[in-house]
Amino acid sequence: MKSRSLRLSLLLLLPIWFAACSAPESTNGPLFRVDPAQLDEEVAFREVDDFVALGPRVANTPGAERAAHYLLERLTALGVEGHIDTFDDPIHNETGTFHNVIGVIPGDLPRWIILGSHFDTLDGIEGFVGANDSGSSTGLLLELGRVLNEAARDAVSFPTFILAFFDGEEAKVRYGPRDGLHGSRHYVRRLIEEGKRDKIRAMILLDMVGDRDLTLTLPRNVDPDLLRLTFRAAAEEGVREKFSLAPGAILDDHVPFLQAGIPAMNIIDFEFGSAPGLNDYWHTLEDTMDKISAESLGIVGRVTLRMVQHLVEELQADARRGR
Ligand SMILES: [Zn+2]
Repeated sequence: MKSRSLRLSLLLLLPIWFAACSAPESTNGPLFRVDPAQLDEEVAFREVDDFVALGPRVANTPGAERAAHYLLERLTALGVEGHIDTFDDPIHNETGTFHNVIGVIPGDLPRWIILGSHFDTLDGIEGFVGANDSGSSTGLLLELGRVLNEAARDAVSFPTFILAFFDGEEAKVRYGPRDGLHGSRHYVRRLIEEGKRDKIRAMILLDMVGDRDLTLTLPRNVDPDLLRLTFRAAAEEGVREKFSLAPGAILDDHVPFLQAGIPAMNIIDFEFGSAPGLNDYWHTLEDTMDKISAESLGIVGRVTLRMVQHLVEELQADARRGR
């Protein structure tokens, strides 16, 4: 009798347990899922082209301020809520004014995923427009924002996505505590001040991602799990041969995040040149739109979306386990 009643109670319990297991979040809508095929590389290319056409975007000049307002307008047009965070920061013995542009796609899960790009251009070269550095990643980030925002519409169980367009990445003289990485350092300072640091599941930085001859050189100073995830996503996309490990570290906007203990990745092609292995177009007047291809933007965009999808699945599983 004892074993029979146990069987009976098990039978009664099983359907309830299964019901609890079948994603309780899905009662209000479909679970968030992003399809990499939704990224339109031609649209990404047009975003880059239009943005670069604004002209030089040197930090602490009207060019960068104009670019910031343009990015906010683009976010608004895409239906993404955004704002400009204007702040002062020392540049050597002076003070500069900078404008981070932040887009927010609010999720119902507590964690955040940040996708980042700087949007300023190098100072000191007359007529430098920075098609690859930083037009490529900025235009692609707008297209990624469009795709993520559409995937989020009516969906449930996804983190908040932050689209962070950083000002003042380029150093005026030499990188240091008072030169370069102004936007990312400021953003991380604010995260810490507001007690939001631990919300960030991942920060994925894109930089110089439009080169026709795409050779992604992933730096060594990144989060090891996100590095593995990048290679995995590249393999799934069938473009693993375009991704390799750089010989060393790269100082870029992901570094302030790493220093704050936030898992951060940098997807960068630091072989931007006239022949394989060379980087001789970088920071020169050769950095123009004719060196950029929609195909390269598409590859990086789709790999990024695959990474985001994997991270979201992990967060959805955490939510089901009540974490
Ligand atoms: Zn640069």
